[in-house]
Amino acid sequence: MPSPRLHIALPPWVDPFVDWERRYATIEDRMDLVIELGREQVRRATGGPFSAAVFERDTGSLVTVGVNLAVPSHNCVLHAEVVALMLAGARLHSHSLRAEGMPAHELVTSCEPCAMCLGAIFWSGVARLVTGATKGDAEAIGYDEGPVFAESYAYLERKGIEVVREVRRTGAQALLAAYVAGGGVIY
Ligand SMILES: [Zn+2]
Repeated sequence: MPSPRLHIALPPWVDPFVDWERRYATIEDRMDLVIELGREQVRRATGGPFSAAVFERDTGSLVTVGVNLAVPSHNCVLHAEVVALMLAGARLHSHSLRAEGMPAHELVTSCEPCAMCLGAIFWSGVARLVTGATKGDAEAIGYDEGPVFAESYAYLERKGIEVVREVRRTGAQALLAAYVAGGGVIY
């Protein structure tokens, strides 16, 4: 039997939902988009309550967005952050977002990343990570973020990745709460 092939794509509602032309000037503007995306994902029940986006850090130009697709795609690694980073690589035709001649990029995510995503963020070449809800917020509704330690963040920061936490945390927490209230599966 041949090995299965993978095709990774966002749910069809995502592209028309996002304003791709807008410049998202502040990190709050960027997080607002990410949270709106997550809310729509929960409303449409197309995956877990996590969303992310890659921006050019200095211009606020939107590169890609991601939502959690793990359960519907039967793919344990398709967390929102990984989806956004994979799509960014595809859009920019580069395995690294820190390649020669590229502007600095950042990943904005509705929740502090799990252990896997933190690793992916390190390898992605982003210059900044912006998070909304905390690891504790995700754990409070039953998610396990895996082996993420203060030292993990310290390592990223030593390697030149700036970390900005708890941006629009209340809105990001509400996203998690809406998922639980809607009977969403915790996996
Ligand atoms: Zn993750």
